[in-house]
Amino acid sequence: MRFDGLIGNAECKEQLSTLSDSGRMPHALLIEGPAGSGRRTMARIVAQAAVCRHPDRAVRPCGGCPDCIKAKAGTHPDISFFGGSERARSFGIQTVRELREEGYRRPNEAECRVFVLVNAQALSLEGQNALLRIIEEPPKHLRFIFTCQSRFQLLETIRSRTFAVSMKGVSEAEALPFLEEKYPAISRKNLQTVTRLYGGCLGQIQQALEDDSWKDGLRLAPAIAEAMLAPEEMALLKQTFRLPQKDPVLVAGTLRELRFLFRDALTAKCGQGERLSPSPDTANKLAATLTAQQLVTLIDTITALEGMQRRNINHSLFVTEMCARLRSAIGR
Ligand SMILES: [Zn+2]
Repeated sequence: MRFDGLIGNAECKEQLSTLSDSGRMPHALLIEGPAGSGRRTMARIVAQAAVCRHPDRAVRPCGGCPDCIKAKAGTHPDISFFGGSERARSFGIQTVRELREEGYRRPNEAECRVFVLVNAQALSLEGQNALLRIIEEPPKHLRFIFTCQSRFQLLETIRSRTFAVSMKGVSEAEALPFLEEKYPAISRKNLQTVTRLYGGCLGQIQQALEDDSWKDGLRLAPAIAEAMLAPEEMALLKQTFRLPQKDPVLVAGTLRELRFLFRDALTAKCGQGERLSPSPDTANKLAATLTAQQLVTLIDTITALEGMQRRNINHSLFVTEMCARLRSAIGR
């Protein structure tokens, strides 16, 4: 299988190639991963490979056969996309009914039909249950591809009937050649920082570079660190509440930047060393105000907060807890 235009995610590509090249692609595939990690691009590639007619499976999707050309243009009659919004429970039973009716019809041109359910976590409970009937005993020609942030957002009964692969953000080494070519006006250092801030999720990185929101994103960590030094708890609470609820990738990126800030402050206290954070003024201020022990405790606190965030706890609870733990780490 080929993955033209999709950067990184070697493990995921290898799993899918093994299945596809041997003609054993499961009838229901689940692609999970954070927003901007390329789930939809991967779904498009898998769907295109499913309809591609190239005799050698290893080079599917070939990009040149009539089916590939239609799939790329989004006009292949046997590939259908459903859903789309990240908003929870936005696609319901009516869509599933239409999809079921459609699913039993024979393919128009290819050997199979492919239904891609984008952001499947938005399916209502009723919708998921209705879908189960066709996933349990699907017609031979039908393939499903689900995309969502985490497989655990789907009912266990659906999950257990799918094969799941995980998309991840890409490394700096993978992202930089692509970003430097696409955004020649932005410095390498800034591209590195943005890649780190958005956890290598190229969709989010490009969005942030295009609408300039990365600059706001980058101000979050130093603003939180400086507010932490204020005597009033409210100052810090105000900053932690700016962390976007809908964007766990940016929250994780901000925690990472805070770790770099605390680490840079510690380096500044202990003498020389390479600076990792793009906010040296804030790091110097931290170094001047806090003890080495307090900075070490802060770094440990970030590790604990990262653990909490990975467990998907309620966002308001998380930001309140973050505020309390950071203050307690420095004895406020
Ligand atoms: Zn083809």
